[in-house]
Amino acid sequence: MSSKFEGKFALITGAGSGIGQSTALKLAEQGAHIIIVDLDIEAANATLQTIEELGAEASVYQCNIADNAQVSEVVASILDKHPIDILINNAGIAHVGNLENTTEDDLDRIYNVNVKGAYNMMHSVIGSMKKQQSGVILNLASIAASVGIEDRFAYSMSKGAVLTMTYSVARDYINDGIRCNCISPGRVHTPFVDNFIEKNYPDNQEEVFTKLSKSQPIGRMGKVDEMAALISYLCSDDAAFITGSNFPIDGGFVTLNN
Ligand code: NAD
Repeated sequence: MSSKFEGKFALITGAGSGIGQSTALKLAEQGAHIIIVDLDIEAANATLQTIEELGAEASVYQCNIADNAQVSEVVASILDKHPIDILINNAGIAHVGNLENTTEDDLDRIYNVNVKGAYNMMHSVIGSMKKQQSGVILNLASIAASVGIEDRFAYSMSKGAVLTMTYSVARDYINDGIRCNCISPGRVHTPFVDNFIEKNYPDNQEEVFTKLSKSQPIGRMGKVDEMAALISYLCSDDAAFITGSNFPIDGGFVTLNN
């Protein structure tokens, strides 16, 4: 255990699984109190239990980040108890499809979670960060925000918005001691990827897994603890000079795929 985040309260959406869970454990190991916000209460409680086994502290809130009223209520009840020093907008959902086979419902669903969810969280938390004149916001964008990925119309739309919301928030609150950055992972091996392969390519899962691994020039998918390490750095005071930045973490996907 180190004390880099001693006394800090870090709210992580989607901390019940994948990158969010790994980030929760990483920050908890470094002294943060983790506020787990997830739709899936069982997954959230499993993360809570692991954190408590580490001897660290966490609390759990079941919440659909797409629901503005629910988010306002949950954030208000958290702020009644303690500040939110770090907000990590991690929860997100995937969708496969091009412009023609993405329905209006698909588009709305992806928008509501990936874009409005991040808006809802930032909108509810920003006032308290302004009041305390400090805070860190870290958003999960994707390589899909910066380059054209096949069959990811709605998902790319949503992650492009996460990237530009990051720039906007960083700009508007720079004089309030609030930093806002995002990371853009390539493919990371999480339940997100496994579920998506299972759902969309049930008959050739292994083949698709290998193809997705090799699409990173480095030859594999990223690991959740590699994401957590970058997120932890960006949320720490070591990164005090970094705001309004997007960090690709993609095994060379964006710049070396030629
Ligand atoms: P995951 O599916 O493993 O976990 C997502 C978590 O978010 C789950 O616990 C889920 O219950 C929760 N969640 C989903 N919808 C929610 C909602 N409406 N309200 C509250 N919680 C909700 O995902 P992951 O792979 O760890 O991805 C995390 C983030 O990283 C996502 O934003 C994703 O778009 C982004 N990302 C992932 C990859 C990848 O390859 N895994 C690549 C680039 C970006």
